[in-house]
Amino acid sequence: MLFTEMDINPQIIQALEENQIMSPTEIQEKSIPHGLSMQKSHVIGQAKTGSGKTLAFAIPIIEKINPNNRNIQALVIVPTRELCKQNAVVFRSITKYKKIKIVEVYGGASIRSQIEQIQSGGQVIIATPGRLNDLIRRRIIKFKSVNFVALDEADRMLDMGFLPDIEFVLLDAMRNISPRLFLFSATLFDEIKKVIYKFTKKDVIHEIDVSK
Ligand code: ADP
Ligand code: MG
Repeated sequence: MLFTEMDINPQIIQALEENQIMSPTEIQEKSIPHGLSMQKSHVIGQAKTGSGKTLAFAIPIIEKINPNNRNIQALVIVPTRELCKQNAVVFRSITKYKKIKIVEVYGGASIRSQIEQIQSGGQVIIATPGRLNDLIRRRIIKFKSVNFVALDEADRMLDMGFLPDIEFVLLDAMRNISPRLFLFSATLFDEIKKVIYKFTKKDVIHEIDVSK
């Protein structure tokens, strides 16, 4: 299969091809169509490290962002600063021909400049849990246009003790909105699943496991 056979904007295809990315990996092939579907559903994907999980959620998110809406439309939550930067590189690589502002948000760096970037039209926020919660409590993160939330490496977030932060974001801060959820991880634990099922309520969830 080729990315050109999926319902993906030529601007994204072009940017992918420039990075020699032509065919989806298994997790991408099985999850991207659900992410692109007009019918809202959530995707939980399990696949080994190195299997291309980042593009599995980045492509549908970027495909569906409205470049003319200068509010936050997607929140990507990652366990570490390093992953925050790696995710930002991937998101920026596919937005080469589509003007979308990606903002990285993590602890141990000036919060002021992060606030400025968010407030100057950040559309995709890639964040570590602690700093994200800080920004939510300061009311810097506005949820009214948030249509997507992605959790990357959920297993590591659990290991690092971020479960209460994830619960706060999904079940408390987002209680009045119902964005589409993408959760990707190498392994999935019941603690995370419980939060996810509370968040998604009775919506359709596609659980894709290619980790075996
Ligand atoms: P994971 O999150 O599952 O560990 P990544 O998203 O970090 O995996 O991707 C691992 C590597 O595979 C990256 O270098 C990425 O550029 C590359 N990659 C991802 N998807 C494809 C693809 N469809 N074709 C070729 N390379 C890909
Ligand atoms: Mg990854």
